[in-house]
Amino acid sequence: MKALVLAEAGKIAIEDRDFNDVLGDNDVQIKIHSVGICGSDVHYYQHGRIGPFVVKAPMVLGHEASGVVLAVGNAVTHLEVGDRVCMEPGIPDLNSAQTRAGIYNLDPAVRFWATPPVHGCLRETVVHPAAFTFKLPDNVSFAEGAMVEPLAIGMHAATKAGIKPGDIALVIGAGPIGVVTALAALAGGCSDVIICDLFDEKLAVAANYEGLHAVNIKTGNLPDKVSALTSGNGVDLVFECSGAKPAIATLAEHAAPGATAVLIGMPIDVAPMDIVAAQAKEITFKTIFRYANMYPRTLRLLSSGKLRVQPLISQTYKFVDSVAAFERAAAGHASDIKIMLEME
Ligand code: ZN
Repeated sequence: MKALVLAEAGKIAIEDRDFNDVLGDNDVQIKIHSVGICGSDVHYYQHGRIGPFVVKAPMVLGHEASGVVLAVGNAVTHLEVGDRVCMEPGIPDLNSAQTRAGIYNLDPAVRFWATPPVHGCLRETVVHPAAFTFKLPDNVSFAEGAMVEPLAIGMHAATKAGIKPGDIALVIGAGPIGVVTALAALAGGCSDVIICDLFDEKLAVAANYEGLHAVNIKTGNLPDKVSALTSGNGVDLVFECSGAKPAIATLAEHAAPGATAVLIGMPIDVAPMDIVAAQAKEITFKTIFRYANMYPRTLRLLSSGKLRVQPLISQTYKFVDSVAAFERAAAGHASDIKIMLEME
């Protein structure tokens, strides 16, 4: 079958490959329909590695996918041939201590699509565990189905933050993860979410959502916006999605006393922080790594209309034009939120 293969940094091509996929009793075979290009795919394309994960052998890219069920294993009961589905890209060891504790995202043995040495899903079909395959509601499109993966990160952050109805949040960073986190925070009960960045082009899409307040940090208006919305108290929740050292260093600045901060963005190396400023406000810190058990609830919110992601899809390319799509993504246009690939 055709697949988009990363041979080494800077070298991707559509190739014919045989994967020898075997359909187990608890698996489904899926014809891929839509795949979103993630920042991690682009990073592997440009650098051939992310931290300790190094591409040592040719690897298929892609992990944000939806498709149609082609075949079901003998023991599968909740899916049938023809179902429209989306897939969770991380497959944990079902017997691990972490999986049994419900934190399967932290299983050290998790096999995650397009994380070396595991092949991703930018290929015609995949075989996947039915337990990590979810039926799309009729009113959720394939593109929205592929968006569930990045959305799940925002949903996990919103869940960990312990949002109370009417909370006011600040999201730092308006990249794809910043925007989906802001949308998840709104869907989770925040009345207002301030989202800040250094680039107007990134903020433009967020500014169109009701309840989102887009602020360019360079204008110097962020303290005023926080103060105006919170009567001078500071925000209840801070979602750090930039990974930028200056943002992390001053994380407590805009937070209310007793606030919760969730660290989502990954700084490229050790990031210092003003601990005393955080202590003086008794800030509770949470961290997240990917997500667990977020797909069903994310699909419910997409179906209900409480999460709207169509405006986040900036460009759609056909699979045959994958290389051009990756070049576009690697060029880093600030106005691009999500580039989507369609298999046909
Ligand atoms: Zn992703």
